[in-house]
Amino acid sequence: MTPNVRPLVAGNWKMNGTRASLDQIKAIAEGVKTPLSEKVEALICPPATLLYVATALCDDSPLLIGAQDCHQNKSGPHTGDISGEMIADCFGTHVIVGHSERRTDHAETDHLVRAKAEAAYEAGLTAIICVGETADERRAGQTLDILKRQLSSSVPASATAASTVIAYEPVWAIGTGVTPTLEDVEKAHAFMRAELVSRFGSDGRKMRILYGGSVKPSNAGELMGIDNVDGALIGGASLKASDFLAIYRVYEQLLA
Ligand code: PEP
Repeated sequence: MTPNVRPLVAGNWKMNGTRASLDQIKAIAEGVKTPLSEKVEALICPPATLLYVATALCDDSPLLIGAQDCHQNKSGPHTGDISGEMIADCFGTHVIVGHSERRTDHAETDHLVRAKAEAAYEAGLTAIICVGETADERRAGQTLDILKRQLSSSVPASATAASTVIAYEPVWAIGTGVTPTLEDVEKAHAFMRAELVSRFGSDGRKMRILYGGSVKPSNAGELMGIDNVDGALIGGASLKASDFLAIYRVYEQLLA
């Protein structure tokens, strides 16, 4: 955790979820209606097909709803894409950009990720910018070099602590059940904090850095307790309300 920084527990549903899954969003929206919500933010990013109806379900809940990607342009001939403006129009507040699955499946570059983050800002959204090394890069001892490059090239110069969240997601830890050691997470987050502070000053000190990659109820307490880990980006375990809420509630102990 970072002193005076409000953690964010975010779920990324990826290409999972139909209208039947809205029951899980309803349960999460109810489950986060506790005093903890003043101290810890909760966010679910369902597929775009559920965005509008999901935000409607959260009318009287502190649960925030976001999207998983946006196009770098506001509108135009981009079949199948959605813009930041469209996400905001559905009352979404956040958008994930640069997830490793998009970097891999859609060949998204750092430059494109930065343009998407800028488009998110323009639409008034908070951008969750994902970074993280692959297994090969880790084996080659390049983790910190990769993080340095991705941070400097994917995070816009106009980023602020309010408009931007960084998510450190080692690619090899996503969906595998394997996580880095606590020492490795601590080292990576301390390195990213120093990079952000040197570039953004006091905003860099307050910018949230989430950890993502096989977070589950059984390991969330130890991961979220690490210095400079300001929340989680959760894939698989966010699909079930009980698991997501169990992770969210580790902050009851951590903040006690
Ligand atoms: C993710 O894809 O953002 C993620 C962290 O997935 P999982 O929690 O399933 O590893």
